[in-house]
Amino acid sequence: MKLFDAHCHLQDPRIINEAGQLISEAVASGVYAFAVNGTSEKDWDLVKEMGEEYPSVIPCFGLHPWFIVNRTPCWFDTLKNFFETTPTAAVGEIGLDKSPNAGEIDFSDQVVVFRPQLELAKELKKPVAVHCLDAFDDLIEIMKSVGPFPSGVILHSYAGSAEIVPQLAELGSYFSFSGWLTYTSKEKAKEIVKAVPSDRILLETDCPDGLPKVGDPSSLQGHVFLKDGNSAPKETINVPENIHIVLDYVANLLEMEKEELAKLSYRNAVRLFSYAGSKLPSDR
Ligand SMILES: [Zn+2]
Repeated sequence: MKLFDAHCHLQDPRIINEAGQLISEAVASGVYAFAVNGTSEKDWDLVKEMGEEYPSVIPCFGLHPWFIVNRTPCWFDTLKNFFETTPTAAVGEIGLDKSPNAGEIDFSDQVVVFRPQLELAKELKKPVAVHCLDAFDDLIEIMKSVGPFPSGVILHSYAGSAEIVPQLAELGSYFSFSGWLTYTSKEKAKEIVKAVPSDRILLETDCPDGLPKVGDPSSLQGHVFLKDGNSAPKETINVPENIHIVLDYVANLLEMEKEELAKLSYRNAVRLFSYAGSKLPSDR
């Protein structure tokens, strides 16, 4: 069985020192590729290096809405430069966030940063990973004015309703599910995943965040991987191998064999990231 972690942050300071080990463990369990998303100018170099070091890593560059306040005046030129020097990269993580998670970050400033990155993805014909919380009306409006997106828009850890799935799919969206889905009620989660067309479903971990909430915590992979020898509760750190738990959970909601969902989601991810120029093993 082949799996594809369509969205994660292996460059995160919480796990960077163990990234090599985490990748090997995940690869040994059948995870063939990881879309590693940068979030600000500070980590783009690191993401680029990981892409060079590990053939299974697809580097993605973007400015995440939570980090726009500290951007430099030349952030967009720097970003464009990363795509020039890393032709197989995708765009992400970018986004819109009106939830309490975004705190005081001004929404109109978020749009100022989001829109040109979405336009850049379209211009470069690359898939783009989008974080969207409580801002789907705005997202749809912007996607309508910038789109369509034949190279795909990844709605990572999709947190919208089932009702808007068809409209978003028509605009070129893919719907990616992570451990965050286990925090939604089972009935609602079921409605959402069942609304997604089978050629648009993806699986991800969002690690080191997005640890799935499961009945039996001992089924989780969760080494204490922390910088400086500090220990933190095991529950706080998610690792790519836990994509198997996401697979089981979503397959169960869909009432589908997990092998079938693995195959579908892997095939979708390979197709999508091939638009960025990535050469990945096919599902054969
Ligand atoms: Zn993310």
